[in-house]
Amino acid sequence: MRIDVVSIFPSYFDGLKLSLLGKAQDAGILELAAHDLRGWTHDRHRTVDDTPYGGGAGMVMKPEPWGLAIDELAAASDRPTIIFPSPAGELFTQKTARELAGLEHLIFGCGRYEGIDERVFEYAASLGQVRLISLGDYVLNGGEVATMAMIEAIGRLIPGVVGNPESLVEESHEDGLLEYPSYTKPSVWRDRQVPDVLLSGNHAVIAAWRREQQFERTRSRRPDLLPADDAEG
Ligand code: SAM
Repeated sequence: MRIDVVSIFPSYFDGLKLSLLGKAQDAGILELAAHDLRGWTHDRHRTVDDTPYGGGAGMVMKPEPWGLAIDELAAASDRPTIIFPSPAGELFTQKTARELAGLEHLIFGCGRYEGIDERVFEYAASLGQVRLISLGDYVLNGGEVATMAMIEAIGRLIPGVVGNPESLVEESHEDGLLEYPSYTKPSVWRDRQVPDVLLSGNHAVIAAWRREQQFERTRSRRPDLLPADDAEG
């Protein structure tokens, strides 16, 4: 998979050279490049923002550098998916991550200030599939942190990135439930005992216990994830 990111702070993405995604890049499974939006400006001050039409507080990102950036990066593949992180977008979920992990070329456009001139989204749709995606119902200062979170969630689903693919199967949100609790050695720590069932060696009983724990946790922490009947217990 190829991922291009456009930002006025491309060094945010240096962090993605670490750990599993760093190894995936070294192995050629993932090609990730962060680009400076100011590289597509042509004035002395490398201006990327201006005052909003109609008045109001804050600045808006100008369409011209965005248009040039998208033109250049979208030309690298047939029909890329162009993602603009936005608190006004569809909610990012594990399902979104799975959909995006199956694609060949993603371009992320990180907004700042009050956001990007609306015409950029319309124009981008002529070059690829456009998605405005929100990390959650809160407002960040810019799209960089949201993009990093999305790339990490997407990247770990690309085959070969996580060493043992089985570890992905039982994770929270994979089957609509939260994950069961996990324990490791020692079996007693500060007077707290690992549940006996996990020491029983009986795999069927352990699997049933874990399943019940998944429902229990989801019911108490995230009842919104369950169908109405199950949520009531
Ligand atoms: N004026 C915008 C609004 O009210 O919808 C918020 C702009 S925000 C200060 C600047 C940038 O941060 C946005 O363009 C977007 O790229 C990013 N951003 C902020 N909150 C986000 C969220 N919850 N999810 C994804 N991106 C977000």
